[in-house]
Amino acid sequence: METLHISAECFPAAKVGGLADVVGALPKYLNRREVISRVVIPCYQNKFRKENLWENTYSGNINLGIETFSFSIQREQTNKLGFELYVVDLPELLKEENPYGYTNDIERHLGFQIAVVNWISSMKKKPDVIHCHDHHTGLIAFMMNYCNEYVALKSIPTVFTIHNGNYQGWIGWEKENLLPAFDLAKRGMLEWNNCINSMACAIKCCWRFTTVSEGYLEELSKAALGLESLIRSEKQKAIGILNGIDTEVWDPETDPMIEKNYGIEKAEKGKKKNKEALCKSFQFENDKPLFAFIGRLVADKGADLLPNAITQIVLLEKLDVNFIVLGSGSADYENNLKQLKERFPKNFNCVIGYNEKLAHLIYAGSDFLLMPSRTEPCGLNLLYALRYGTVP
Ligand code: ADP
Repeated sequence: METLHISAECFPAAKVGGLADVVGALPKYLNRREVISRVVIPCYQNKFRKENLWENTYSGNINLGIETFSFSIQREQTNKLGFELYVVDLPELLKEENPYGYTNDIERHLGFQIAVVNWISSMKKKPDVIHCHDHHTGLIAFMMNYCNEYVALKSIPTVFTIHNGNYQGWIGWEKENLLPAFDLAKRGMLEWNNCINSMACAIKCCWRFTTVSEGYLEELSKAALGLESLIRSEKQKAIGILNGIDTEVWDPETDPMIEKNYGIEKAEKGKKKNKEALCKSFQFENDKPLFAFIGRLVADKGADLLPNAITQIVLLEKLDVNFIVLGSGSADYENNLKQLKERFPKNFNCVIGYNEKLAHLIYAGSDFLLMPSRTEPCGLNLLYALRYGTVP
């Protein structure tokens, strides 16, 4: 069986968050189980793109409204990721380094999706399953089913995975003309709450949809920014599958990004060495408990709760502990954390930005992970640093 994964992120080629981790790992392990799995993402002008060799495998044009853009599909030559990775090089639309955050994100995502569907149409041997991830790929099942040019793809089953239901790919109807010509009787499949909603459209048009845990499926059926009734009504084709981390990438025994490698028997000593390195770089004392948060600094991660919770712990509880936050996101939250650093230089430090290496060292060296929580009185759940072994 052959599957093609379509995503905006894939570790290590392009990562913003957990979506990249899943798309960079699942195909690798599916391949080992003889499900031939390939991945296609947009081409970003980033380090991975520049440092790797690419082979042109297909060239074509897409129409986006009245404009025509040329694109090519390029394959990373070595297959070193454990699967074939393809990028859609669409130079006039995908000029940027990062996956998101640009004023023309709608056009960028649409151009990517149309190019991928064109490419699939051209394949002699088509994938048996098309697996789309998150809203950036949410219109693909619709195009394969209802766009005149692509009717030949109608029989290929599509799976859609919801990694984060808070971003749904809302597109105003005024941009409808950017889509390839489709059966107008099916216009309703695009629609949710008076706009084109890519995620709703995917849920309606896909063969099956999955969420990144069983609990998340339950949660979405109750609260999904307006999609809850749709999720409930389509539940017969949904399944929650708990995702995980790639234990070959996140293995303290072999991880090249940490200070000192360690296995299960030497976990205590190993974590200590990593903690020392981490504390040294942040000028913290080693013998204090070290709490860490790594993630996008946005409200749905509870990043707004961090400053108050940390202030409470330091000032009211008078706990002599240290905190490190690594992340980027809302400018307000970033500023609040920077101010906290000035206020509590001995106990708190933050690094604003994306830093994969530091993330590995933080997981290896910290004692606890902070999980912001709106239901806890202090705004936090404290978890032992499970990812890299616990030394409570
Ligand atoms: P998402 O909601 O997209 O899954 P998260 O904020 O939960 O995003 O982050 C998921 C993954 O991305 C985690 O593995 C986390 O360690 C990593 N990550 C997030 N932000 C950063 C960052 N600024 N630097 C390094 N790694 C990060």
